[in-house]
Amino acid sequence: MLRMSDRLADNLHCVTVEIAAACSRAGRSPDEVTLVAVTKYTELVWVRRLIELGVRNLGESRPQQLLERAEQLPSEVHWHMIGHLQRNKVKPVLPRTVLIHSVDSLRLLERISVLAAELSLRPRVLLEVNVSGEASKDGLMDTELIAQWDAIQAVPNVDVAGLMTMAPLTSDSSVARRVFRSLRQLRDELATRAATHIKLTELSMGMSGDFAVAIEEGATLVRIGSRLFEGL
Ligand SMILES: *Cc1c(COP(=O)(O)O)cnc(C)c1O
Repeated sequence: MLRMSDRLADNLHCVTVEIAAACSRAGRSPDEVTLVAVTKYTELVWVRRLIELGVRNLGESRPQQLLERAEQLPSEVHWHMIGHLQRNKVKPVLPRTVLIHSVDSLRLLERISVLAAELSLRPRVLLEVNVSGEASKDGLMDTELIAQWDAIQAVPNVDVAGLMTMAPLTSDSSVARRVFRSLRQLRDELATRAATHIKLTELSMGMSGDFAVAIEEGATLVRIGSRLFEGL
């Protein structure tokens, strides 16, 4: 048990060191990058251990599992919803999350807005962009996002804090880099056309295989799962 726990601590340490190294290469401060530990693959005992090790930002991709775990774990955890969110799951998720990374349509944003007003909340959300254009991926196409930008900005009761994407699964880091760079450029482009109350500060990009590249390209949130839990 102890040896296995040490493996989790070792993995976390390695990831933290790699985040710091990527920040240093990019001339950024490690404070600018938040590690969101993606716990969807792992059992509750390891999630508890991760919290003991000081990790506070946890991500789940399924609303049901996020809600169950939020019940079972200390309230100091900041929960991130990172997976596809159905409109009928928005209501219970809103009070439990600090950030919804995966708003993939204007309709979903509008639904969040209506429920936020009902619950007297002002949720922080990111817009998920399908940069690579793969048919299998969720997210707004960049052209769609640009076309809908005025409508998105007009949606009340939500704080649109930035963009999120997933790179294609490939060991070729230049592919991921291109995707992450495109997301940053899209953010910069939208920011020039944003109302003053909208600050697109967050870029959620980078997973176990590509987080270093994502940080070099400006990620402020990296979503890391399998690297933390490998070998347990
Ligand atoms: C599962 C998942 C991750 C984590 O993936 P790893 O490759 O295991 O780090 C990140 N983001 C999203 C949206 C996910 O669904």
